[in-house]
Amino acid sequence: MNYVPSQPASETAPFPFDNSYARLPANFYARVEPTPVAEPWLIKFNRKLAEELGLEAEALERDGAAIFSGNKIPPGAEPLAMAYAGHQFGTFVPQLGDGRAIMLGEVIDRGGKRRDIQLKGSGQTPYSRRGDGRAALGPVLREYIISEAMHALGIPTTRALAATITGQPVYREQILPGAVFTRVAASHIRVGTFQFFAARGDMESVKTLADYVIERHYPELKDSEKPYFSLFKAVAARQAALIARWLHVGFIHGVMNTDNMTVSGETIDFGPCAFMDAYDPKKVFSSIDQFGRYAYANQPGIGQWNLARLAETLVPLFDPVADTAVNLANDALTEYGSIFQKHWLDGMRRKIGLATDEDGDIELIQSLLTLMHEGNADFSLVFRRLVASAGDNGSDPALVELFEKPGAVSAWLHDWRGRVARETLDTGARAAAMRAANPAFIPRNHRVEQAIDAATRDADFSLFEALLDVTSRPYEDQPEHEAYAAPPRAGEEVLQTFCGT
Ligand code: AMP
Ligand code: MG
Repeated sequence: MNYVPSQPASETAPFPFDNSYARLPANFYARVEPTPVAEPWLIKFNRKLAEELGLEAEALERDGAAIFSGNKIPPGAEPLAMAYAGHQFGTFVPQLGDGRAIMLGEVIDRGGKRRDIQLKGSGQTPYSRRGDGRAALGPVLREYIISEAMHALGIPTTRALAATITGQPVYREQILPGAVFTRVAASHIRVGTFQFFAARGDMESVKTLADYVIERHYPELKDSEKPYFSLFKAVAARQAALIARWLHVGFIHGVMNTDNMTVSGETIDFGPCAFMDAYDPKKVFSSIDQFGRYAYANQPGIGQWNLARLAETLVPLFDPVADTAVNLANDALTEYGSIFQKHWLDGMRRKIGLATDEDGDIELIQSLLTLMHEGNADFSLVFRRLVASAGDNGSDPALVELFEKPGAVSAWLHDWRGRVARETLDTGARAAAMRAANPAFIPRNHRVEQAIDAATRDADFSLFEALLDVTSRPYEDQPEHEAYAAPPRAGEEVLQTFCGT
């Protein structure tokens, strides 16, 4: 019998690789190739992103299965697993690294931006420790849906280029279909990457990495007087902006370990992450976050904690005088707090339709959040329905009914209208601005789980596709998809999410 490959590997899909990380010293990574899989099947390909990256989208859409499963290494790729360390739930682990991810290489996208292309779930690496280097379909779909939804929401994030099924099972608590996720990132450099070298007392490598990060992500800082301190401040500012954006949409990352925080300012490593339905500042989804370290409202503080760990690695480069260097670091960490607060308040003002600043705004916002918490009201729906109330008070009942204790909400609406009356924008412009700040469609956790269940149990990807489609236009009214805007019904709510490792 002749062996006929079911899917001929493409020879016509070159990637315009230019692999700068592979040119860094050998102690930054391990060169390792993906482990081939039995029967790769391309279940999703992000054609638009492929075009943005300058890839041959048509060829990849046709026969990208081999490449996006790791079975075929495209010409010019220099596969490697990156070394990093990290604080996991506060405990330092000196060696983590890409245990189930392999970077193929970097391309310069159509906008001139350098982007990493990485396979996740592509087999073991020298950093796998006891892990199998594989990923199950569920977490791959979760990362696909949520990272693309974050992008559509306008929040900096890694992207999803493709998902394949491997045709091989992975063994977790259950036997699950194996999958490979192709991730695109501004870079995969983490706070933990700096920690890896600092923990080894290798300041030479910390400096090499810092120079690389400045060149790649912050070239404008190259000629600053204290480039490494400027770098730290810039990373802190991006994280402050990022975490504020998370809070504005009710996003809970779930595992903000230092190895899951980028220096580029993108959201990365979507594990047990989820969007909350009813507002609760203490909300936690992750099954392993027993003490709520990474709860919704803890995220800005944890961001600062992680940045302090980054500062510890860089402080010798800030200033030759140790005391001066430490003072600089502390000032920058304090400044992070005020930058976060400003972004948070600006965004919350936009959510309630305020284009001007007044002293009592923060109290007005806080009192709405308190009412939402006490009234068990859905975070996204409250803000979205407030858009209609910006038009006329005829829409108020639809908003008020979201609260278990509606009484106080009418009083709040009265105060809010008093405040809004001092705004300069007209009603139509205000409603439009509010609509652009308050998504109607987030990837609700029960929808994500339903999509994963159908795909895992029945190889039915229709719910996954539908959810991706709806959440790609989060700020538009989509009356035909109203059900996707609704919180879970009784019995539908997902109480826990898992890392999927
Ligand atoms: P994460 O939970 O994704 O932040 O991963 C934490 C660390 O565990 C990283 O070093 C991962 O590469 C590693 N890891 C997670 N899952 C696996 C797996 N299935 N096989 C090997 N390494 C893994
Ligand atoms: Mg991680």
